[in-house]
Amino acid sequence: MAVMDGCESKKRTPVLKEIKCPQCGEEIEVFLRDSFVVEDATCPECGHVIHEGEKH
Ligand SMILES: [Zn+2]
Repeated sequence: MAVMDGCESKKRTPVLKEIKCPQCGEEIEVFLRDSFVVEDATCPECGHVIHEGEKH
């Protein structure tokens, strides 16, 4: 497996952030890149889904 190691890929690394669930207020961990969600995240409390592409 080839490993890409450039500066560019490091800049693009998503950051983990806790945001509040709009439904119940529980904290949900989501991965953001430039404030946009990069991966769907589900609230552990109520099951609300934070969708990929949402801005936070
Ligand atoms: Zn929730």
